[in-house]
Amino acid sequence: PLVLGIETSCDETGIGIVRGRTLLSNTIASSMDEHARYGGVVPEVAARAHLDALQPTIEQAIAEAGIRLQDLDAVAVTSGPGLSGALMVGVGAAKALAVSLEKPLYAVNHLVGHIAADIVTPDSEPLEYPTIALLVSGGHTSLLHVREITTDVEMLGETIDDAAGEAFDKVARILGLPYPGGPQIDRAAVGGDPNAIRFPRGLSRASDMAAHRWDFSFSGLKTSVARWVEQHEGEDLPVADVAASFREAVVDVLVTKALDACEERGVPRLLLGGGVIANKRLREVALERAAARGVTVRIPPLSLCTDNGAMIAALASQLISSGRRPSTLDFGADSTLPVTEIQVAERP
Ligand code: ATP
Ligand code: MG
Ligand code: FE
Repeated sequence: PLVLGIETSCDETGIGIVRGRTLLSNTIASSMDEHARYGGVVPEVAARAHLDALQPTIEQAIAEAGIRLQDLDAVAVTSGPGLSGALMVGVGAAKALAVSLEKPLYAVNHLVGHIAADIVTPDSEPLEYPTIALLVSGGHTSLLHVREITTDVEMLGETIDDAAGEAFDKVARILGLPYPGGPQIDRAAVGGDPNAIRFPRGLSRASDMAAHRWDFSFSGLKTSVARWVEQHEGEDLPVADVAASFREAVVDVLVTKALDACEERGVPRLLLGGGVIANKRLREVALERAAARGVTVRIPPLSLCTDNGAMIAALASQLISSGRRPSTLDFGADSTLPVTEIQVAERP
């Protein structure tokens, strides 16, 4: 099926068009620059930016895909989780588009969309199930057990405080580096010793395992970096060592938990997604340790890892192929939509 996907859960206005497993276009407008001076995404600013960007982004996407809106078999949209106001803009637009075109509408889960990014990754073999998925971005850090993408996705764990990307952003700020922090920390860490400072690995102690086996925590790490910097005030701050050591702590805990989940669940496959996957050290450590433990790692191209509309269209395309009915038009934006709700408001 030919599907147009609309994604507005955070600061990217993403419009993607797919035909089955084939990616036709993936157009993204980001309001990231507008959030820079606040050091993080400002919900109200993001929502307004979506309103401005939607129309031109849709036009660009259909031009790039070489299709007409009338040719579509369905429209898809992110219903949640995400920022309420931002989601509402996409949901409103998707409903208007579907109604005016008289096309079915599929309201889908953003996190499951991140997994669906793999489906439209060019030149890749179909994703095998079950798979463990690690999604790391500015808004979430989630470990999922995907038995089948349209019917059975289980949340193993998630962050109990800051998301991994958020930790990068906050630590960058502590080090006096601009937003977004991820690429800045990466740059600052060049030549640094990842073992110079032993920063804490959140929720990794034996005593954490009962309640938080698969959960993450990064706010203690952030505080620990802030304290270290404070204690060494007045000295020449070894920024490269601090950045490399901080990054190592994040990467270590992410990769360890993801691969432990693969082992414990007997699933030799790991899918990575989210904007933090841009981190070279994370990819490097994940690939290295996975190989040692007999786990195959899949990483979609970065344009499909960060928030985008193609993954939303891909998920809907998969739902359609497995015979699922469209959504009724009475759904809204659900900022805390659980991952088990892969599709929202499926027609009875
Ligand atoms: P959502 O959480 O809804 O998926 P988001 O906009 O918060 O969306 P992304 O756009 O996927 O997340 O990713 C942005 C985050 O990724 C930022 O926190 C940024 O610091 C982080 N990031 C980007 N590049 C890197 C990198 N090289 N290393 C670490 N983190 C990075
Ligand atoms: Mg973003
Ligand atoms: Fe996302």
